[in-house]
Amino acid sequence: MMGGHLTLHLRLVKACNADCSYCSSWQENPHTRMSPEDFRRAIRFIRDVVVPVMGCGGPRSTVSLQYVGGEILLVPKAQLREMVYIGREEMTHAFGNVIDGVQSNLIGSERRVLELDTLFAGRVGTSVDGRGTQRTIKGNPDAYRKIVERSMEAISRRRRKRPGAVFVVDGQGTSNASHEVATADRLGYPLVLRAIFQGGRDIANGTQDQLVSAFTEAFDLWAMKARVPVEPFTHLLRKRLGADEVYGSVCPFQRNCAENSINLEPDGSLFTCFEMADSGHFGFGNALEERFDRDVWETLRARRDHVDAKCRSCPWFDACQGGCMNEAVHDTGSLYGRPDLCAVWTALFRRIDALFEEFGKERVRSWLSTCIN
Ligand code: SF4
Ligand code: SF4
Repeated sequence: MMGGHLTLHLRLVKACNADCSYCSSWQENPHTRMSPEDFRRAIRFIRDVVVPVMGCGGPRSTVSLQYVGGEILLVPKAQLREMVYIGREEMTHAFGNVIDGVQSNLIGSERRVLELDTLFAGRVGTSVDGRGTQRTIKGNPDAYRKIVERSMEAISRRRRKRPGAVFVVDGQGTSNASHEVATADRLGYPLVLRAIFQGGRDIANGTQDQLVSAFTEAFDLWAMKARVPVEPFTHLLRKRLGADEVYGSVCPFQRNCAENSINLEPDGSLFTCFEMADSGHFGFGNALEERFDRDVWETLRARRDHVDAKCRSCPWFDACQGGCMNEAVHDTGSLYGRPDLCAVWTALFRRIDALFEEFGKERVRSWLSTCIN
């Protein structure tokens, strides 16, 4: 009997209706969209050919189907509904528990946004940029913010809570990370701070020092005070507190992604995750061409056992796991390298240890349990 957790990123379309400075998903074939028939074929191939090799599946396992873009609202609504139902139906044959969710920029009519919310029963996540110019419509960040705010309000009226959001910490984002944490806390939604990877475009990355400052300042603002979870802080704190509950796979702190994560592109190509897909790193086949390149996949899986020497002796390895494979490829050229974000994670672990020193683990644990998800 197998088990475990699989995250399946499903990218049904590459086109988008916004124009974000850091996005790398735009580059090739923006108009390719997967049809429901192809979607069913692709899902069956993944389920019947790839999943058994990965070693997940079975009655005690969970699959999390995560619909990502491009922008999902550009898929006609009847087709989207059909595909979401196909995903649920096909995966119940291999997994004991099937869950799904969607990531959308929420740029659409209120009605369309609420339909999306209904289809996923509230499991909708979005992205924010409260005061920068990262996210725009035709170059206009205020136009972007206005529509997103209207959509967030509509969801919040219905669900009595706002959708969780991602804030991308690129060069500009380093000045705004703390502001986004404060806003999420004030409005009561979970936030993910995501350090930018290279992707396909010339992105203005923060310097290492800027990233370290942005993450540590945001952590100081959040720790022992906030009432919402902010990633990666919550995860790292829990791990350092010795939590052994299962989260599924948590990026970017895993080295066994090949065994628990797949990304399906609109043309059927298979990657470990959408970050690897955007970077064009180590595709391992094509579900529509019924091709699974097991040698490449084995190479990806080997990161589980090939640990960088510094990570092996790192006191925080248990929580960090050596960071993200995709970033390691960008920074070192090797699947088994240590990503440059190590500097940020190290600084955060020092902050966490100082927090334990100051407050004691019990008080930290008790405050953390009050963070509302
Ligand atoms: S490569 Fe990085 S982003 Fe992709 S699944 Fe692994 S940890 Fe997550
Ligand atoms: S903090 Fe740095 S050295 Fe330690 S496990 Fe993470 S990447 Fe490796």
